[in-house]
Amino acid sequence: MPVVRVALDVPLPKLFDYLAEDAGRTDIGRRVIVPFGQRRQIGLIVELAQASELPATQLKSVIAIDRDLPALPAEWLKLARFAAGYYQHPLGATLLSLLPPALKRLKPTRAEPPAAYALTAAGTAHLPDISPRAKAQRQLAERLQQGPLPLSEAGAWRSHLRLWHRAGWVEAAEAMPASPAPASPPPQLTPDQAATVAAVLEAPAGFGAWLLHGVTGSGKTEVYLKLIEAQLAAGRQALVLVPEIHLTPQTEAAFRNRFPGARLISLHSGLADGERLRAWRACLDGRVDLVLGTRLAVFTPMDRLRLIVVDEEHDGSYKQQEGLRYSARDVAVWRARTLDIPIVLGSATPALETWRNAERGRYRKLELPERAHAEAELPAVKLIDTRADRPRQGLSASLTRALRDRLARGEQSLLFINRRGYAPTLYCNGCGYVVPCPRCSAHQVLHRKGGKFELRCHHCGLMSRPPEVCPDCGSLDLRPAGQGTQRLEETLADQFPGARILRIDRDTAARRGAFAAMREAVNAREVDILVGTQIVTKGHDFPHLTLVGVLGADQALLSPDFRATERLFAQLMQVAGRAGRAARPGEVLVQTGYPEHPLYRALQAHDFARFAAQTLKERREAEFPPYSHQALLRAEAERIDDAIAFLDKAKQAGLALAREHGVTLFDPTPALLARVARRERAQLLVQAGSRQHLQGFLGPWLEAVRGLPTRTLKWSIDVDPLDF
Ligand code: ADP
Ligand code: ZN
Ligand code: ZN
Repeated sequence: MPVVRVALDVPLPKLFDYLAEDAGRTDIGRRVIVPFGQRRQIGLIVELAQASELPATQLKSVIAIDRDLPALPAEWLKLARFAAGYYQHPLGATLLSLLPPALKRLKPTRAEPPAAYALTAAGTAHLPDISPRAKAQRQLAERLQQGPLPLSEAGAWRSHLRLWHRAGWVEAAEAMPASPAPASPPPQLTPDQAATVAAVLEAPAGFGAWLLHGVTGSGKTEVYLKLIEAQLAAGRQALVLVPEIHLTPQTEAAFRNRFPGARLISLHSGLADGERLRAWRACLDGRVDLVLGTRLAVFTPMDRLRLIVVDEEHDGSYKQQEGLRYSARDVAVWRARTLDIPIVLGSATPALETWRNAERGRYRKLELPERAHAEAELPAVKLIDTRADRPRQGLSASLTRALRDRLARGEQSLLFINRRGYAPTLYCNGCGYVVPCPRCSAHQVLHRKGGKFELRCHHCGLMSRPPEVCPDCGSLDLRPAGQGTQRLEETLADQFPGARILRIDRDTAARRGAFAAMREAVNAREVDILVGTQIVTKGHDFPHLTLVGVLGADQALLSPDFRATERLFAQLMQVAGRAGRAARPGEVLVQTGYPEHPLYRALQAHDFARFAAQTLKERREAEFPPYSHQALLRAEAERIDDAIAFLDKAKQAGLALAREHGVTLFDPTPALLARVARRERAQLLVQAGSRQHLQGFLGPWLEAVRGLPTRTLKWSIDVDPLDF
């Protein structure tokens, strides 16, 4: 009797054998319900065998194979297996984590009625044969010729649709929301854009990784659109990854607008389970031309995929921080290589890993050095030396003056400060005491809610009332210290009583749709001054914005995280890019105590290449990535000693292997944020000169680590970690 090898969501890196009487090769990639211990579990059939190594008496039979859904294609299984192997995550847990949540439930999935119907080729051929007297049918035909018909709008046509479906004249399709605006004609490409498009289209077929390095406003999206158009015209699929889809609905609108006839789906974690499932199903059925999505979309099954685009490829949100800790950008490159298709990585500030790959010739670099609109210049960046022009309530005199000018001229300003809440800390003026979080090694942040203050921990979420007297010295003189978005908003309201101020941070943008509403208010010029955290830096076009002020950026220069300056530079380039997008020139004022810092100098010159060269030199000297490859073994326990002791044992268990593979194991250390929610966290850094060495070491080492006793300790491995 055939045996199926099943992946289950369990923390063991192995497959489980079950008997399945009627299983065949076409069942590979199907969901299955199996008995596991005392319970039933959902699994995925990954392999088929004629016999098991287990004795027949120990083998159980599958309960049911789900044949309602098409099987996952071999390419998808290969991709998922690669991810499990590379990121050292158990295969079963990996595979199941990549399925839409609805497919992880035991309840059998019923095929939902399609959201919409579209004409098939057979249907189109049949249209002339419809009798002129069949009025309803003629109207239906006319309607379908304009594009897919959502079932919700089918009304009296429903019964016809059912008949036509049976006849093969229509097929299930994704419901397409009406285009937000009449499709506007595409702009004439600039010479740089045209050269870029031509370079990719005329390259020999097959794998090629392209780094599209274009300044903010250079029109990278237009390049993506042209490349995608070529694929869609040939009946192929394209996949576009974006950092945060709910923040960039204009990307989706632009795509729908350009390709009104294409079957586009957008995928992100904010979708309801039913929507996710329907989108997944449409992909499995091949009823999709274009997928737009956040990092999880890199694992969409697509059997005609011929182009991948990763927009803002440097963005940290492409890295998943729990479970399967994958980088969607890196997985995308692997997928493109395996499929032998082109991939385009776009950014104004590429990740240094990507930049170096381009310099070594592994990726081909394409440059868009100028803005697409002829009139739109890159903004002038000026540094305000806060040692001379001391800020009061966060604002220097120069910045205040610049804000007043903009208000007088009816132009918009944006103040960027990467701190939400009212003030970073509550501070005792008597003894210097700062209110800590009792559960974390961090200070609590002062927030204002209604007329009251409260303290919140940004790491564990704990909320408490601010103390009225200092618990250390009894002083009553407790003050907010430093600036957050709320306090800045208050200061601005004080200083510019007539100004309309809008704050955008995680607290105000949390509700669904809130962000889009804010964007509209800005575009409708109902706002004079915007105050925001890095949420506002990503890809938004604010045409009336002419001033960007940057506060509190220096903090990143002092961070012990070696990637902090890279992130800061990217954020500042992005936020500077918000200014002067249309005809009016923009100005960026950065308040800093280190105006001679090379990072700010490079920012003034809009010179990413210079910044990259400087930073790469430092990285090379320190043997940091991209000149080395890292993995981080993390452990968390109730006591820090236990976490360190576990990592010490892990290190001992790996020493011989490390020598053999040319890998360095560092000493375990407490994490930068050592305590979160009463759990102590420590980490052990593994570093190697090459990816191959690191990978060769990790597999056998983790097998040994898995054998170590843990009790209540939890550990995890992060390959190519971004956060320390
Ligand atoms: P990026 O993503 O590179 O920052 P965008 O793709 O957002 O830039 O484009 C910036 C602006 O330039 C957009 O408003 C876009 O519509 C416009 N644009 C792009 N290409 C052209 C072009 N060839 N001619 C005129 N406008 C263009
Ligand atoms: Zn005190
Ligand atoms: Zn806390």
